[in-house]
Amino acid sequence: MHAEPFEYAQADTVSDAIRLLGEIEDSRLLAGGQALIPLLKQRKVAPATLVDISGIDELHGIEHTDTGVQIGALTTHREITNSDMLADSVPVLPAAISKISGGIQVHNVATIGGNIARAHPAYDYAGALLAAEARIHIAGPDGKQIVPITEFFCGACETCLEESQLVTAVEIDNWNNKRYGGYAKKKEPASGGSVIGIATDLLFEAEDNNRVSAARVAANGFQEHAVRITAAEEALTGRLINSEAIELAADAAGGEIDTNAILDNKKASADYREALLGPYVRRSLNKAIGK
Ligand SMILES: Cc1cc2nc3c(=O)[nH]c(=O)nc-3n(C[C@H](O)[C@H](O)[C@H](O)COP(=O)(O)OP(=O)(O)OC[C@H]3O[C@@H](n4cnc5c(N)ncnc54)[C@H](O)[C@@H]3O)c2cc1C
Repeated sequence: MHAEPFEYAQADTVSDAIRLLGEIEDSRLLAGGQALIPLLKQRKVAPATLVDISGIDELHGIEHTDTGVQIGALTTHREITNSDMLADSVPVLPAAISKISGGIQVHNVATIGGNIARAHPAYDYAGALLAAEARIHIAGPDGKQIVPITEFFCGACETCLEESQLVTAVEIDNWNNKRYGGYAKKKEPASGGSVIGIATDLLFEAEDNNRVSAARVAANGFQEHAVRITAAEEALTGRLINSEAIELAADAAGGEIDTNAILDNKKASADYREALLGPYVRRSLNKAIGK
């Protein structure tokens, strides 16, 4: 199928993009196009105008900040997967993004900003960013704001973004001691999205670098948007990381889950997703510690 006809506008700066979104009725941002173009072709959306932000220099790149790293909204999956800076400072992110489907074509053009703005429950960024306790930088007609990742997603394919706002960057704090990250994903065979995807970000103590200071475990594909698996986190915090601790976390994982909120759709039943939770927490933790 072909897309409905649409107009095309190119933004050269962030303020340009905000102005165009405000001025042109029924306009929509275009970044990598890897979600939007298929939706246009399937005629699930038909905006009158696409505002192309892919040429905005200030939205590209990964850089150190005073407290951690900042990733521009147009940074591609490939740049994230290949970043030594991210592998060192926030390993859960490249671990998760390397598992995105679609092959090298998708990884070369699809962006972190487009992925989280689309907010599809089966996408892989949200859980990793939730585990890493990221902050989202947003710009719009009323200026700039920084939103904790816990307040960014508000439902399946829904975010807190308001009219004429765009994501400009994602920021993640450093941890000065040892930090491990892992991601275990059960792929839905047809789409390659997550039936479940468990992201783990393990922060270790300075004095005893095998003892978990903080454990952050989050699930993609499990509910309408990514959620923290707090019972698994509690089971790990303060423990030496070893097989026994990992088993405790896997066994505990379902403990504080609202089972009524588990996704139940044609990709997988809620019962199946619930059954996968513990085993995928175990896998993700084993990947984080290199097993
Ligand atoms: C074959 C295939 C397989 C895929 N498999 C996976 C997978 O396994 N896991 C996964 O996570 N993803 C997957 N994806 C999705 C892909 O990884 C992209 O993240 C996704 O397409 C969105 O990124 P984009 O840059 O292409 O955004 P676009 O398609 O350009 O935009 C997506 C939406 O976000 C809006 N938008 C874009 N940028 C911004 C911004 N900066 N601020 C505000 N709104 C913005 C657009 O208006 C649009 O509504 C797959 C895609 C394809 C084609």
